[in-house]
Amino acid sequence: MIITIDGPAASGKSTVARSLAKKLNFYYLNTGLLYRAVAYLLINQCSYEQNALRNPDEADLNSLIDKTRLIYEYDQDKKEQVIFDGQDITSFLRTSFIDEAASIVSTNKIVRDLLLNVQRVAAQKFDLVVDGRDTGSVVFPEADIKIYLSASEKVRAERWREYQEKNGNIFSAEEARNIIDDRDKRDKEREVAPLVIPDDAIFVENSKLDIPETVEKVMEFMNKSRVI
Ligand code: C5P
Repeated sequence: MIITIDGPAASGKSTVARSLAKKLNFYYLNTGLLYRAVAYLLINQCSYEQNALRNPDEADLNSLIDKTRLIYEYDQDKKEQVIFDGQDITSFLRTSFIDEAASIVSTNKIVRDLLLNVQRVAAQKFDLVVDGRDTGSVVFPEADIKIYLSASEKVRAERWREYQEKNGNIFSAEEARNIIDDRDKRDKEREVAPLVIPDDAIFVENSKLDIPETVEKVMEFMNKSRVI
């Protein structure tokens, strides 16, 4: 079974998806982490500047997105991890710098095609909760249930700002708003696999809901649709 959760930045997708996966005993695939890893590795292994991330070299991508080198692992206790050449790189992937770098690299078609394959291979092995931007529209159009999660731009920018603050990075409300706005635009306006609400998705607006309430709402929908 495949459950997709798509939505814009800071809509709470990963926390909801992780919690849902735990409840259902499914495997959680965080696709944003894969895009983040590619951006991080192009910068750190291949010395790319931010601008060059729009158009990475195919040979570099093939060398990095190689199943013997780049490994995504999930277990309920250790959460999701990305390992490259045997080293856990997860802790480097959620900085505001990589937020932006991943948003840029994800506009590239070759990157998307290579990661599409990685995502589909995971679905051959596990029941999945998967989150991202195009998981219901492009990667798994036949998913059993599709959720589109969103919240107002103001609420999402504030969540992002608070997350950054907890990690010692201070942004004003206006800066956070601009950063989230840029990421939204890039995701929605790119040519390949833009962020869209899949036709058959359940729309969940969580500006006024916390995570347990959002998970409960999603579970209610799933019960009603009798998929679980
Ligand atoms: O979900 P997260 O914020 O970690 O994703 C990082 C970036 O990767 C996003 O800003 C988005 O541009 C890109 N992404 C994507 N398609 C996905 C998942 C993430 O384009 N399925």
